[in-house]
Amino acid sequence: MTRLILLGPPGSGKGTQAKALAASWHIPHISTGDILRQAVQDRTPLGLQAQSYQERGELVPDRLVMDLMRERLDQPDTNSGWILDGFPRNLAQASFLDELLQKRDQNSVEVISLEVPDEVLIERMHERGKKEGRKDDTDDVIRHRLEVYREQTAPLISYYRERQQLTSVNGNQPLWAVTAALQEVIHS
Ligand code: ADP
Repeated sequence: MTRLILLGPPGSGKGTQAKALAASWHIPHISTGDILRQAVQDRTPLGLQAQSYQERGELVPDRLVMDLMRERLDQPDTNSGWILDGFPRNLAQASFLDELLQKRDQNSVEVISLEVPDEVLIERMHERGKKEGRKDDTDDVIRHRLEVYREQTAPLISYYRERQQLTSVNGNQPLWAVTAALQEVIHS
């Protein structure tokens, strides 16, 4: 049973690695960024509320992502485990997740922090912006997302380290090497 949280700055490769691991372990990859982008595209009520935050590189309000995660983790496919990518993204979301899992007696969770230097992150996001046309992969928004990460998400590293749930992995290697490193440290 694997329950894994992938932490890391924007552009660190969380999504790519989460997809690879989820496929190899046959468990769902739950990406709040993907779910929100899909909601924006489908113009659902959630999407309409999330859009402007997402495009500016701000965090979408906690209430929206918490509701969305509560529902997602209620789906039967999560019984076999999961990989979270993009959640939690601040301390309030982390305590919310703790409570949710405690209620369900799902206390064994591993957390990986993917480490990549800023200059590499910026270059990767530029490339992605050109390829995929993501509205938040433009210069100003990229810079802002890194600030938001540093201020709101990075504190989760010490939060999970203090609880001895955290392992760091070097994300500045070829994709396959990062996947191999992850597979080595995670107890699947
Ligand atoms: P990246 O990690 O490369 O920034 P994501 O797809 O994970 O890309 O997230 C893109 C955007 O989606 C974020 O900048 C934010 O607006 C929104 N988002 C994703 N997850 C969350 C979350 N847990 N809380 C609030 N906003 C979120």
